[in-house]
Amino acid sequence: MTPLTVAIIGRPNVGKSTLFNRLAGRRLAIVHDRPGVTRDRRFAEGRLGDMPLRIVDTAGLEEAPADALETRMRQQTERALAEADVALMLIDARMGITPMDAHFAQVLRVSPTPVILIANKCEGGAAQAGLYEAFGLGLGDPVPLSAEHGEGLAGLYEALLPHEAALKERQAAEGLGAEADGAADADADLSGEDLEARAAAGADDDADEEPVDPGRPLNLAIVGRPNTGKSTLVNRLIGDDRLLTGPEAGVTRDAITVDWVHKGRPVRLVDTAGMRRKGRVVESLEKLSVADTLNAIRMAEVVVLMMDADMVLDRQDLTIARLVVEEGRALVLAVNKWDAAADRTATMQRLRDRMETSMAQVRGIPYVTLSALKGRNLDRLMDTVLETHAIWNRRVSTGRLNRWLSAMTGEHPPPMGKHGRRLRLRYMTQAKARPPTFAVFCSRPEDLPDSYTRYLVNGLREAFGFEGVPVRLFLRKSE
Ligand code: GDP
Ligand code: GDP
Repeated sequence: MTPLTVAIIGRPNVGKSTLFNRLAGRRLAIVHDRPGVTRDRRFAEGRLGDMPLRIVDTAGLEEAPADALETRMRQQTERALAEADVALMLIDARMGITPMDAHFAQVLRVSPTPVILIANKCEGGAAQAGLYEAFGLGLGDPVPLSAEHGEGLAGLYEALLPHEAALKERQAAEGLGAEADGAADADADLSGEDLEARAAAGADDDADEEPVDPGRPLNLAIVGRPNTGKSTLVNRLIGDDRLLTGPEAGVTRDAITVDWVHKGRPVRLVDTAGMRRKGRVVESLEKLSVADTLNAIRMAEVVVLMMDADMVLDRQDLTIARLVVEEGRALVLAVNKWDAAADRTATMQRLRDRMETSMAQVRGIPYVTLSALKGRNLDRLMDTVLETHAIWNRRVSTGRLNRWLSAMTGEHPPPMGKHGRRLRLRYMTQAKARPPTFAVFCSRPEDLPDSYTRYLVNGLREAFGFEGVPVRLFLRKSE
């Protein structure tokens, strides 16, 4: 099987060679024996964690004659792209976006090769400004990374997973075999006629799927402000006897996973910031920075947000909760230190108020009150994690969805469109799970008001039990 081939793209000095060396796992001697002669693309076998990679590099372009630089860069980039399954587009997050970055982004946007945008030089959670600017390049969410310090590689691994899965699928289709895997599903097939054909033809398909494989570990991250009790919880949950494998440097030295079994279900705790351990017991989680938290979230399927009962859903908690929802992960709120809560009634009131006013986009997020210190309600927490995971993975048959859609539009027809013609919602299908994502085919999607989309999303939650997990709904044009 050919490994996933990645091309490292970007203007000079963003850190391409550094990343190349890190992925190739060795310091390749970069020999400038003939000044002025541009090194061509280089290939290397490399790996990221357990994922083998074949890497195309375009470094060295800065040695090209100045006048021809742009042309050469474009040629090299296009050739590298043609060879690659996925492009890694680097920017220097400390510099922010330069016109040359924008130029590369433009080339990549029109290329059929999928792109992962990487905000490099983000060590220690620094360079947030450049990171946020990078959202504006139109290449999707940037993955924060420090190629030099080896931070954030877990996030890159996570971003590569769906591409590797897609490659394996292509190879399997060609008879080469291999099974696909991945944390959250890729937004792979949200367009295209196949989906529409499935939506239109699915009237007889009535079987829902519950694709959770109980033998596969559930990826769990525990995040939250410092001092909320995360390490206490991890110690309690794992306990020496239930610890199956010690923390092995998983994907990278900053990504550490711990496996254990809860009621027969393997659970993999993901902590990208690393865990300090003494003997076989996790001593204390590193204090998570925003970038680390984001990495942990991206590695996880379900995220437990630990909060202090006396300060539930404060501003920082809400920021993290929103990140989890934006990343499409399943969220469970843990109200810790319940044993020492000053006023339990007030805490619950505040929790409900804040969820209603500040987290309204996801109704019914589950919460559990617990005491990590006293070991109370930990089973409830884990049961809730497993239930939420199952909902996040759930698939509804196209037949049921289409019957539901016609009932919904019958009860409240969509409004008139701009030209006085009624908008028509023709059919729908669930494009993917993890998180549940639906495609609705509509005569003029641009005219459908947001309030109607919300009506549909809330209806989906109620009708099919998608309470508490992010639900995505895409409108697609259909004649
Ligand atoms: P290239 O021209 O894109 O191949 O960039 P290089 O890999 O040669 O890196 C350019 C400069 O950025 C070098 O001085 C690197 O040491 C530095 N660099 C690369 N990655 C990082 C990083 O993650 N953080 C910081 N602070 N510097 C980096
Ligand atoms: P972290 O920074 O989120 O990993 O928090 P720690 O696990 O280090 O806990 C911070 C402090 O809160 C420690 O003094 C813990 O003993 C205490 N703590 C953790 N869980 C509980 C709890 O359920 N009840 C009470 N009363 N204290 C707790």
